[in-house]
Amino acid sequence: MSKALYWFRNNLRLHDNPSLNQALEENDEIFPVFMVPPDDSTHRKVGFSDFGNHRKKFLWEAVEDLSARIEQLGGKLSILQGDPVELITSCCELLGVQTVYASKEVGFNEVQEEVELTASIELILREDQFLINPEEAPFDLDKVPFGFSSFRKKVEKYWQPREKVLLAKGHFSATELSTFRMPEIKVNFDPRSAHPFLGGETSGLSRLKGYLWDSRKVEAYKFTRNQLIGQDFSSKFSAFLALGCLSPIQLYQEVGRYEEEVKQNVSTYWLKFEMLWREFFRYTSLRYGAHFYQIGGIQQKEISWLKSQKRLQQWINGETGDDFVNANMIELAETGFMSNRGRQNAASYLVHDMGVDWRWGADYFEKVLVDYDCASNWGNWMYVAGVGNDRRNHKFDTHWQAEKYDANGAYRDLWL
Ligand code: FAD
Repeated sequence: MSKALYWFRNNLRLHDNPSLNQALEENDEIFPVFMVPPDDSTHRKVGFSDFGNHRKKFLWEAVEDLSARIEQLGGKLSILQGDPVELITSCCELLGVQTVYASKEVGFNEVQEEVELTASIELILREDQFLINPEEAPFDLDKVPFGFSSFRKKVEKYWQPREKVLLAKGHFSATELSTFRMPEIKVNFDPRSAHPFLGGETSGLSRLKGYLWDSRKVEAYKFTRNQLIGQDFSSKFSAFLALGCLSPIQLYQEVGRYEEEVKQNVSTYWLKFEMLWREFFRYTSLRYGAHFYQIGGIQQKEISWLKSQKRLQQWINGETGDDFVNANMIELAETGFMSNRGRQNAASYLVHDMGVDWRWGADYFEKVLVDYDCASNWGNWMYVAGVGNDRRNHKFDTHWQAEKYDANGAYRDLWL
């Protein structure tokens, strides 16, 4: 009887999950596991205890939802805390299993985990979290276009999305490998939040249905996406995508189906366009590896940044000299979310007005964002800091931005 370990990473779902399907199809029994990062930071991971409460809560809801879905199929998700390489190796020894299936990741540390595991076990990886599978991409990994426009043009000209896959029949083991329980996470509900959503596949699929089919908000996306207040000015798919509660293919295909059956316009196109930014940073991360997190970025550009804890703390607390930036930083601290417009301004202010090392800002966002995604976060920070995929200066005039996007001050009044 063949059995294997199935390692859920940032693909916390049962729908359209090619690596899970392959594991179910190729084995008589699979042992599903999820690894919570260690409490304290390691060379590999930011410590779980450093995560903001909103990020922790969203992640935990996603894991609980997945666990319940697996239980409905008669299995048990084992949740373990610690270094994934050590834990997976010991689980395999304990169960007498030689094969592990998982989703391919793009972050430098995650790729290192894959390399280390491959030395001792058979690790089968599939690209569940990609919109564009590397073998379908119209360029080799070492030739990923440097700029977004060339990337997008090539993709739009030569690529077709794959079909989504249906959950294969198979057997999830009911053996529980750990007694780890997540501590209770207390988060006060803030009625001002633009992101009041629960984590998990169930909630992600419901948001997808709501934003497209029920409310038809997608039809105005291009004209609302730079707004700042409320649940529906943008899709709020990011956190579901970051943890894999929603498959990017499912999402892309669903927008296509909406275009065919209801309406196709510049806004429906623009949602797909923005999803290519996510993909672009994933490919850039794979291409440039560790440079993604280094001070000179992928350009390896020498800029001297200030290492001022005082300035960083003022920015984090929303106590800078700029009320638009402050309002955004307070929203982030209170809810774990900030709009794209807010992120661009807050990041630009930290690096260009306060002169602080861009990696410190990226590190803070990593801890608190409910939608933290290593490629999108570090890629966007590099971009704003001028060490990423664009050689132009990306300093935002935050006063001008506030006048344009918060002309009547409603957003600042809400948070200050
Ligand atoms: P929508 O406007 O509805 O966009 C739809 C989807 O397109 C998003 O869910 C996302 O998957 C993708 N997308 C849109 N804009 C971008 C972008 N600039 N880069 C990459 N993907 C994009 N996004 C994350 O998912 N995780 C992060 O950790 C993250 N950190 C960021 C840090 C900075 C400094 C900046 C400027 C941007 C960051 N973004 C990040 C990108 C963007 O701000 C968020 O994806 C977006 O605000 C999420 O809201 P939404 O899902 O409603 O977006």
